[in-house]
Amino acid sequence: MTIELPGLFDLQLNGFGGIDFNGPDLTADRVEEALQRVRLTGVTRCLPTLITSSFEDFAASARVLSRVPSPAIAGIHMEGPYLSPEDGPRGAHPRAHVRAATVEDFRRRQDAADGRIVLVTLAPEVDGAIALVEHLVASGVRVALGHTAATPDQLAAAVAAGATLATHLGNGCAHMLPRHPNTIWELLAADAVVATFIVDGHHLPPATVKAMIRAKGIERSVLVTDAIAAAGCAPGTHTIGGVMAELSADGRVSLRGTPYLAGSALTLDRAIANTVRYTGLPLDDVIPMASTIPAACVGQTTRGMVHADWTPETAELTVLRVTD
Ligand SMILES: [Zn+2]
Repeated sequence: MTIELPGLFDLQLNGFGGIDFNGPDLTADRVEEALQRVRLTGVTRCLPTLITSSFEDFAASARVLSRVPSPAIAGIHMEGPYLSPEDGPRGAHPRAHVRAATVEDFRRRQDAADGRIVLVTLAPEVDGAIALVEHLVASGVRVALGHTAATPDQLAAAVAAGATLATHLGNGCAHMLPRHPNTIWELLAADAVVATFIVDGHHLPPATVKAMIRAKGIERSVLVTDAIAAAGCAPGTHTIGGVMAELSADGRVSLRGTPYLAGSALTLDRAIANTVRYTGLPLDDVIPMASTIPAACVGQTTRGMVHADWTPETAELTVLRVTD
């Protein structure tokens, strides 16, 4: 059956269709091309996401993104560099560029981005993080907690300082955790925190997605892709910044030569279908998690409409066309 849904809104998109927003060859035309291609998956607005890198590399990408006039760009998501330096929680972020949080460092990056950074993912245990959360929230920038090995007290301090999101909950944390307390339970229980999830079948097992979304509730759950340039491409090697990543035939993206995940090749329409399958929730409950709820998380609205074909028996969603 044909259905209509609001334009999808992705809070975390590192690249698409062979185009890497973190790459040295980024141009405004390449960004526009990636936005056109991601639009075919129903995404009409997104936050291009810049991961941990040197200031120079960050600034180069941020300058390009900030000059693209497309209304599809709802701002920039800065994921890092104020993240846990530990293997595990750090994920694919290069250790050499992970650093302490300072207002001064953020200001330089925000200046390079011409004020377009609207969301920052940071780890609250990093030196200076809580003071930076206060500064960001006071200046209207949203704060997400992620890539963290924080204690419950450190997480609570960040939430008290105004952090309102948890980035890809269940990923970007240690491989081995105490059964409780741990970062996952704390962020699941924090009522002021909306959690984002990568529902590609690789980052979180179906039962984990189901249990986490039930724990958070629909209104505090957001689907993101965390897609890298490999999304929309054939299996093979792709880059995210200076990091080499491998897309396998089953759709898993890993750091080349390791089992560690390095973003995804997920599209948001598929994330919706996967979430319906994994949780048993009706489609009408899942669509807001990829549209109106993420938009509201950064104080914005969705754009346009998606006309799609929905097959309830198999929970398959196919984007037919997108209108403004
Ligand atoms: Zn991440």
